[in-house]
Amino acid sequence: MKFPDLVSASKRLVFRRATEENLSANGHLNMKLEQTEALEQRLCKACGFCCDGTLFLHVRISESEPIRAYKKAGLQLMDSPEGKVTMRQPCSGFSKGSCQTYHCRPLRCGEFKCALLKQASEGAVTESNALEVIRETKKTRSRYTALLHQIFPEFEQRPVVSTYRQIRKASKHLSGEALKLFRARKSQLKEYRESLQEALDLHFYDSQGKEDDDRSKST
Ligand code: SF4
Ligand code: SF4
Repeated sequence: MKFPDLVSASKRLVFRRATEENLSANGHLNMKLEQTEALEQRLCKACGFCCDGTLFLHVRISESEPIRAYKKAGLQLMDSPEGKVTMRQPCSGFSKGSCQTYHCRPLRCGEFKCALLKQASEGAVTESNALEVIRETKKTRSRYTALLHQIFPEFEQRPVVSTYRQIRKASKHLSGEALKLFRARKSQLKEYRESLQEALDLHFYDSQGKEDDDRSKST
């Protein structure tokens, strides 16, 4: 009788140890996930480029999503010419540097991670380096938009991403002082725009992201 008892006691011990090891591994995993999520939130709060019109023009919404709930939450949706529902950017839910409808945001918003966020989550870039990239890119964007809005005040209402391609077209309608200013600052504006695009290409868009200014392409 002693022998089976010993077997079952040793089995129980092995089982308990395995369970404890599993619990500790799970606990560790959960902690890691929480840390990664907190890191992502800190970076996104400092950034906002995928919500404020710097990177994308639209967020595509699929038919199965709760469109009514999104509208009720204050998100501005529209029907595209192809009959698809999209959400224009800058997003109406983006305010004070963060998403005001976080618990009722489109699927693609929840799925999207820019290249920088992916690298930071995987530990390929440190948090302070990622924050530095965001700060520097914001400075580059401010330099570009300040000059852009000085020459084309009507661009103030437009998402930054839509202005990259519109400068040449808009310049054809300039006259008088505005035209003089454009001619004098044209090369500087081009230089600022290229620096911004370079920073966005290098750190934020991934291999597919820029195709049609639609953040859904990058998820
Ligand atoms: S662009 Fe990247 S870091 Fe910035 S808010 Fe979007 S996912 Fe976050
Ligand atoms: S719903 Fe939230 S996450 Fe999505 S674009 Fe708007 S502010 Fe950004």
